[in-house]
Amino acid sequence: MKGKHRVEYLFASELFGRLVWFVRLRWLAVAGLGLASLLGPSLGVHGASPALLIVALFVGAANLFFTLALRRRKRRELPYDHLLACALRQIVLDLTALIVTAHFTGGLQSPALLFFAFHMAIGTIILPARMMYPLAACTSVAMFLVYFAETRGFLSFHPLDPSRGMCGAACHFNIAALIFALFGVVALTDSVTSRFKKRNVKLWDTTEELKKRTEDLQRSLEQVETVEERKSHYMRISAHQLRSPLATIKTSLQVLTEGYVDPASDRGRKLLQGAAERVDELLATVNDLLELAKIREGLKCAPWAESVNLNQLLADLFDALQPLAEGRSIRLVPSFRGVCILDRGIPPDLVYAFENLMENAIKYSKEGGEVEVRLSREHDRAVIEIEDHGIGIPPGFDEEVLNEFVRAPNARHHAQGTGLGLAIARETMEAHGGSLRLESREGEGTIARAVIPLHGGPPESPETQSESHPQSED
Ligand code: ATP
Ligand code: MG
Repeated sequence: MKGKHRVEYLFASELFGRLVWFVRLRWLAVAGLGLASLLGPSLGVHGASPALLIVALFVGAANLFFTLALRRRKRRELPYDHLLACALRQIVLDLTALIVTAHFTGGLQSPALLFFAFHMAIGTIILPARMMYPLAACTSVAMFLVYFAETRGFLSFHPLDPSRGMCGAACHFNIAALIFALFGVVALTDSVTSRFKKRNVKLWDTTEELKKRTEDLQRSLEQVETVEERKSHYMRISAHQLRSPLATIKTSLQVLTEGYVDPASDRGRKLLQGAAERVDELLATVNDLLELAKIREGLKCAPWAESVNLNQLLADLFDALQPLAEGRSIRLVPSFRGVCILDRGIPPDLVYAFENLMENAIKYSKEGGEVEVRLSREHDRAVIEIEDHGIGIPPGFDEEVLNEFVRAPNARHHAQGTGLGLAIARETMEAHGGSLRLESREGEGTIARAVIPLHGGPPESPETQSESHPQSED
């Protein structure tokens, strides 16, 4: 919440409370006027008798209306402007009633004049000073007109003490004193209340800032918890993945070292060969884990390079993977539309990611099939699609397989793998501000779709990056 709205929201509830208090106070004034009217004749103040009672009834009726109007609404439903208008109506009513009361209780000699100052103070507490100064001016003019009309005989004069006449020249002093008092009280009250209002706004700002910081802190804590959860989940899976080949190696070596099988025999050689294969698997897993950790932790220190040509990068991969494809009699079909050059990118990670995607397409294709690699430019994004017509991904697994160590059941029977390739590829795309999605039908084939913004870049300014981490090619 900003500026005017923030201040209005802050003061609306306070203003509502003050209006309720003001309405209660007015009942006292109504009672006072009624009493003055009833007791007036017995105290020798005859002029006030029916007039003040009428004023009391009128103010009482209006106050009843204000009370009901305030009760009908809930505090937070009332907008600030509405409350201000309501307060203004009440003050205008009070001042009018006070002018009439003053007229019937001696004009400029009336003791009711004191209440003008009182009203100006209350009014300035409730309303902004910019509204109260015009009200003070209007009241001054009204009282002057009453005085003028009384002296010229347009209005009858109602002295409290009939033995005394009009105040004459002293009244000039009275009117000047009244005007000075009205403006003086507004100015004084405003100087005090505006200081309080400013402090309130400051307090509100500090509270809001504190609230925001607490929320930020809460969010950070939640993020840390999620990261911690992911970490321990990741470590459990990693440990599990490493444990089974290690257990196999240990058993093989135990059988050989404890003399159950002769290492020179055929069986012994097979056991050693099996152990060596498991070691290779372990190495592949450890390398993939290291790659993943590198992407996750070292994004800022990664070897970002400028002007990374995706056409060139994919063409090089075509050459590198040709032997693997030929080994499975698979035809690699390139389909490049346009040139896609990333402003900034991490070439080794991109090579690793696309190599994985293309390897998957070859690995999970049926022998003699075809793998198409499409590259195109959509607005300011590069779109890379790798399509195969292989075993596909079973329903419900196309999102899951993007996570570490997740392999679909059909792939387990089809080929070996660690289940880390797609996780690495996805992290790489995300590090470049892009995304990776899989579209697949089991038994029909798969499309891996990577989208990378051409004008993305490292998380910090490129200048800082190139200064602190010189580019490298591996
Ligand atoms: P590696 O980590 O050695 O690459 P992997 O290929 O099993 O092993 P990922 O590349 O992460 O691991 O793939 C995860 C799983 O996603 C695969 O095991 C397979 O179930 C599924 N998958 C990925 N690409 C394809 C594809 N082109 N066709 C069918 N299934 C696929
Ligand atoms: Mg793979």
